[in-house]
Amino acid sequence: MLTSLGYAAHAAQTPLAPYRFERREPGPHDVQIEILFCGVCHSDLHTVRDEWHNTVYPVVPGHEIIGRVTKVGAQVNKFKAGQIAGVGCMVDSCQACASCAQGLEQYCEVGFTGTYNGEEKETGGMTYGGYSNNIVVDEKFVLHISDRLDPAAAAPLLCAGITTYSPLRHWKVGKGQKVGIVGLGGLGHMGVKIAHAMGAHVVLFTTSPDKKDDALRLGADEVVISKDEAQMAQQQNSFDFILNTVAAPHDLDAFLVLLKREGTMTLVGAPATPHPSPQVFNLIFKRRHLAGSLIGGIQETQEMLDFCAEHGITSDIELINIQDVNTAYERMLKSDVKYRFVIDMASLKTGT
Ligand code: NAP
Ligand code: ZN
Repeated sequence: MLTSLGYAAHAAQTPLAPYRFERREPGPHDVQIEILFCGVCHSDLHTVRDEWHNTVYPVVPGHEIIGRVTKVGAQVNKFKAGQIAGVGCMVDSCQACASCAQGLEQYCEVGFTGTYNGEEKETGGMTYGGYSNNIVVDEKFVLHISDRLDPAAAAPLLCAGITTYSPLRHWKVGKGQKVGIVGLGGLGHMGVKIAHAMGAHVVLFTTSPDKKDDALRLGADEVVISKDEAQMAQQQNSFDFILNTVAAPHDLDAFLVLLKREGTMTLVGAPATPHPSPQVFNLIFKRRHLAGSLIGGIQETQEMLDFCAEHGITSDIELINIQDVNTAYERMLKSDVKYRFVIDMASLKTGT
């Protein structure tokens, strides 16, 4: 077995703390990675605090992983030792169902294996994520990272990037369209950058007036303070597509009425408690759509990484030491993230 050092939560109410554990030795199809950077996603916080009621403790979170390949199995042909590689939210899927056959492993009909808090097929144990010094992953679920991308700032692309890119592509966002992004956090700021690069007219909705200048700098054409009813009223019936990244329950009607006839609002935020039910009339009178979307498949994740390398897109990050992760969670809950925390894993060696 391979010895790993990471940070784990042992219960919903206790802070993350150093944790030593074991991973499988790399098999013939596996890539072993020394983790350099790992982004901090709001999903990590939901899981650590068992807000989705499915956490198995101890849990080592982290699914925005960038590292250096240190070892590859005999059958691996996509990666070589020394390369920079990425791992996102999934490390396995059934590889046999209709969704997997279409490269939509995130919708695997048997259920994909999460990078953490998932059941590992090889060992029957749990998977442990990227708040740690190493990871072993089947090469099918490892991504190539262009050397044009800064490795620390590229880490959040593995979840925040693909979770926003996939719905923007699926609903064919592009030139001539008016697109709303709700919430300027980790996902939202990637949504603004990517929708802008796709050529759309981007409107950012925020509850934080002090984020306005940043939103414009990141690529928004307009910024609307979503608590300001007069500003919201001016936007009625005008959007082709709205991507809603908010991590807390809120009034969906306030945004549904902003869609044009046949426009779509897609939810990617996954709050612990449900949103109040929207008014059906806001959907039926204009044949509007309310939808959801989950991360993205492996092929599409590689496409997104290549798109970001081509357009010079990475995340705006605040690099932190792993010892500061509990404080980072508290700041994330106050919407005080500019715009993604990324853990510098070198701090794990020196500080624990
Ligand atoms: P984040 O960095 O905390 O950003 C969330 C943003 O939502 C905040 O910055 C804030 O933006 C806004 N917000 C927070 N509370 C709000 C409230 N009460 N009312 C209105 N707006 C509020 O979180 P994240 O990492 O981007 O994740 C966002 C959500 O997506 C989480 O629930 C996460 O679990 C989920 N997620 C889903 C997928 C998927 O596949 N569907 C993948 C990854 C994450 P402003 O300050 O601009 O208002
Ligand atoms: Zn995530």
